[in-house]
Amino acid sequence: MHLNFIANQTRPSSSGQTIAMLDPSDGQVFAHIQRSNAADIDGAVQAARQCFEGAWSKLDGVERGRLLMRLSRRISECLDELTAIEQRDCGKPTRQARADATALARYFEFYAGACDKLHGDTIPYLNGYSVLTWREPHGVTGHVIPWNYPMQIFGRSVGGALAAGNVCVVKPAEDACLSLLRVAELAAEVGFPAGALNIVTGYGHEVGDALARHPGIDHISFTGSPTVGTVIQQVAAVRHCPVTLELGGKSPQIVFADADLDAALPAIINAIVQNAGQTCSAGSRLLVEQTIYEPLLERLGAAFEALRVGPPSMDLDLGPLIRQSQQQRVWDFLSDAQVAHIPMVAQGRVVDEAPESGFYQAPTLLRDVPPEHRLAQQEVFGPVLCAMPFQGEDQAVALANGTPFGLVAGVWTADGARQFRMARRIRSGQVFINNYGAGGGVELPFGGVKSSGYGREKGFEALQSFTTLKTVAIKHGG
Ligand code: NAP
Ligand code: MG
Repeated sequence: MHLNFIANQTRPSSSGQTIAMLDPSDGQVFAHIQRSNAADIDGAVQAARQCFEGAWSKLDGVERGRLLMRLSRRISECLDELTAIEQRDCGKPTRQARADATALARYFEFYAGACDKLHGDTIPYLNGYSVLTWREPHGVTGHVIPWNYPMQIFGRSVGGALAAGNVCVVKPAEDACLSLLRVAELAAEVGFPAGALNIVTGYGHEVGDALARHPGIDHISFTGSPTVGTVIQQVAAVRHCPVTLELGGKSPQIVFADADLDAALPAIINAIVQNAGQTCSAGSRLLVEQTIYEPLLERLGAAFEALRVGPPSMDLDLGPLIRQSQQQRVWDFLSDAQVAHIPMVAQGRVVDEAPESGFYQAPTLLRDVPPEHRLAQQEVFGPVLCAMPFQGEDQAVALANGTPFGLVAGVWTADGARQFRMARRIRSGQVFINNYGAGGGVELPFGGVKSSGYGREKGFEALQSFTTLKTVAIKHGG
């Protein structure tokens, strides 16, 4: 039985109710978490507020940085344990779960270094005045985390918020919260004051909603679907609470005929296969210049057929999807493809060792997907790559920008001038040229335009979202 973590103590929910956690690899119940409610959120917000006004405010940037660094080291010491927890909870292959735990340690390392480097400005003004600006924390920040990368998204969201001087109340997804409960314990172990980091588990429509509504929450960082993002924004708007939204994507990988295909191919596959396609920045659309469309699809098809899906402990190319409803979602998209006569080029294979009751899905490559079809417009959030041809830069840009989203794009070309033209013309938060994802990029500002959201997390830029600016004008004469 896993409890909430509030004010450095484990606490049961006041509801007395729990939620069963399913292991995605076999669909069996393996743990229970608290089904928390508004009263639990209220307790966490009160603990956070007390900490913010007490122990936390006494720490200067250097001390805060040392605390975050101690947590980073402690996470690194517990890498095996966190990897095992995440693997069980989320069904991630070992390499992926370990990469997530490593990234979590790296986020806290990066933001530890940022704590004492956030400064304001001085502004020349009228004679006899001095004007300066201070970057101040919001106070108690709320963090709603999805299930696909709990540790990474917690690291970037909570790491940035703490570095900027805030305290945190975190609502993880009910499908994936065990690693975060453990990290909160580690934070207490290394000396985080009680109330600086609180975790309250439960359903989004109950405890997530209570967090978004709570008047004591000064800023909300939400990562998840555009639909819930809209709800959070509306709920928060009533009390004018600032929100950072990291929503979905339908990110294009654009391959020109002059591209180095040997470099592009593994990156294109990884961008849709990683975490079984359950990645907001998945490269889920493949735009290929007409002249190399057929040969590229042939190579890609062969590579897809070699992909293997199986239990996380086998550490294959893909593990299971998170839950049955996610599997059903992918099936619905694939049956729509059949109805629309969208050709399937190739599929990987689920290995025999995978239990029937697990949520496995073979990676699938589709071709000639009409740009207006929902497969080319909406997130599948599974391992389905949709290929389509284009002719010339203008059509590539029109297709790339022709969805409601704008999170990430990849461009593969050897032409230097075209690299810059494409990067300028694509509407998205990140553009990668001749690579995709840039090794995780803890340092690189991340976020979207259009329905992919707004505000930036990751990198130093995140600290802008996690602070507010105060202008101080002093009239001294002379
Ligand atoms: P989701 O349904 O929007 O859930 C995200 C989080 O919001 C979960 O913790 C969920 O709780 C909570 N939630 C649900 N309803 C809520 C409400 N009414 N009020 C407050 N919180 C609520 O998304 P998901 O299905 O977990 O994740 C997949 C989506 O997230 C995809 O669209 C993906 O692209 C996006 N995503 C974006 C990024 C990014 O950085 N841009 C990263 C990862 C995922 P419960 O699940 O416990 O109900
Ligand atoms: Mg789980």
